[in-house]
This record gives sequence, C-alpha cells and structure tokens, in this order.
Amino acid sequence: MKHECANSNEKNDDNISALSVIASSILERTEKCSRLKYTKSQKDKSSVDFCNEGLLNSLRKVPQIFKKAREERRNYLLEPEAKTVCREYGIPVTKFEVAKNVDEAAKFSEEMGYPVVLKIVSPDVIHKFDVGGVILDLNSANEVKNAYKKILENIKKHKANTKIIGILVQEMAPQSTEVIVGATKDPQFGPALMFGLGGIFVEVLKDVTFRIAPITRQDAQEMVTEVKAYPILKGYRGQPSVDIDAIVDILLKTSKLVMDHLEIKELDLNPVMVYEKGAKTVDARIILE
Ligand code: ADP
Ligand code: MG
Repeated sequence: MKHECANSNEKNDDNISALSVIASSILERTEKCSRLKYTKSQKDKSSVDFCNEGLLNSLRKVPQIFKKAREERRNYLLEPEAKTVCREYGIPVTKFEVAKNVDEAAKFSEEMGYPVVLKIVSPDVIHKFDVGGVILDLNSANEVKNAYKKILENIKKHKANTKIIGILVQEMAPQSTEVIVGATKDPQFGPALMFGLGGIFVEVLKDVTFRIAPITRQDAQEMVTEVKAYPILKGYRGQPSVDIDAIVDILLKTSKLVMDHLEIKELDLNPVMVYEKGAKTVDARIILE
C-alpha cells in the first residue's frame, strides 16, 4: 500500500520522517553486510527449482521455526531456518542441506551438483562472510572437505567458543544482477518493505525505495521501476532485461510473510540474484522482536 496521508500536512511530515527513519535503519543494516564479487562466469540455471503458489498453502513449518528460536532464546533465525520460512512462502531460495561432518558435506555436494557454497551455521555468527564463514565456488568433494575444515578453523580463530550447529551446503547461484529485498518493522506503521540493487547502489548511492506493507502488485511494480538503477534491470547496451516479474513476486510474498508474522523485526534477502528468467535468494536473515 503506497503511503498516503492527504488529510493533514503535519501528519504527512511526521509520516515522511518516520519513513526516513525506517529507510536509514535498513540502509545501516545493509551497509554492514560485506560484499563479495566472484568472476567465474556460469550458465544461467535460475529456472530450476522455482517455487510455485501451491506452496503458500503449506505453511505449517513456519510457526514451529519461530517457536524453536524463541525456546532457544535466539532473536534471529539461522540462515537455513530463514530460507525455509522464505521457501514456504514461495520465495525462491538456493537448495541447501546442513552437514554435521565432512563426509556428509561431501555427500550433500555430490547430490546437489557442483559448484557449491559452504557456510557456517551458528547462533553466534550473524555476518558470516566477515569471519571467514563463507567459501564459494567449490567444485569437487575434495574442495568441499578442505573448505569445511577451513571454515571451522576460521571460526575458531575468530572466537574460540563459538557454538557451531553445522555447515550449510548450498548450490552456488550463477553470478548475475544482485538485488536486495528488505523489511523492517516501524512501531507506528508496522512492517515496511525495501527494494534496491546490491552493492554500491545501496551502500554508496542509497538508491532504495520503500512502501508500508501490505503492498499491492502495482506498488511492487512501482518499487522496482522507481529506483534510479532501474535501467540496469531493464537492460542497457544490448543487455537483456532481468525478470522484473520475479522481483515483483518476491516483494509480494515478502509482504505477505511480514504481515502474517508480526514478530519479524527485520528481514533481509541480501542478495537475491536476478536472471533473464527467475531469481534466487542466496542469503536470508530474519531478526525477531
Ligand atoms: P553474510 O552473512 O556475510 O551476508 P552471505 O551468505 O550473504 O554472507 O554470503 C556472502 C556473499 O557471498 C553474498 O553476498 C554473495 O555475493 C555470495 N554468495 C553467498 N551464497 C551464495 C550462493 N549460494 N551462490 C552464489 N553466491 C553466493
Ligand atoms: Mg548476505
């Protein structure tokens, strides 16, 4: 729903300043996330494993995930939990499994197909990349086993008594245009959604757009078209357009997710890779109140 307050200018000013508070809190969060670029070019595999509307009917897992986090006195969901929640709402995420030892990590990788990515799963680590908890582009069982050990080593070096749940094995999404979908809960307006392109567009240029949830399809379309970087999404110098409908779909499903679960304080899909056809969330973070 586009934010409108026609009755009173004063109220309107208040509302605009509240929106800018929402805006700066999301931006601050986004800036904390480390960025990483890799150059290996890969075939676009985005059309596989795209979730469908039917999944929206099976949301049984989601309340259990929130309950478990609360029972464990965590105020945020681990990446596999956040991705399960997203997947249950039909938001496309990378395939993933949580391995408990090197052999399991190698087995999951073989089953998933290379290249894969390994990541730390720990209630003590929120920004995984910063502590050497993410290793990309692994192409054999041997590389996976070495990366598994390397992550554990990095984590121990960073902080000796970090609690480790396991190592997340996930498909490596082909490099593409990265976008960010975020949500944050404002005490006055409730959940608000954010959209922007990844990297410098958000971190340096602050080129992002916001709407108070719930949003309509038209709101979501406007969010995508009103960022200054929109021409990059539309394709320039002969580049094809990315799948704008896939982004709109993710924004709508994220809106439903945060409206259904008002205990979500912050949500970050950062980044989402967008392709000519389809999109895929490679990292998801959900913070609870
Ligand atoms: P952090 O917790 O530090 O935000 P991420 O999970 O976002 O860690 O990983 C860091 C970066 O690695 C991402 O911004 C993205 O560029 C890349 N990345 C992570 N997972 C994948 C994946 N499955 N496929 C492709 N790239 C990935
Ligand atoms: Mg991230």
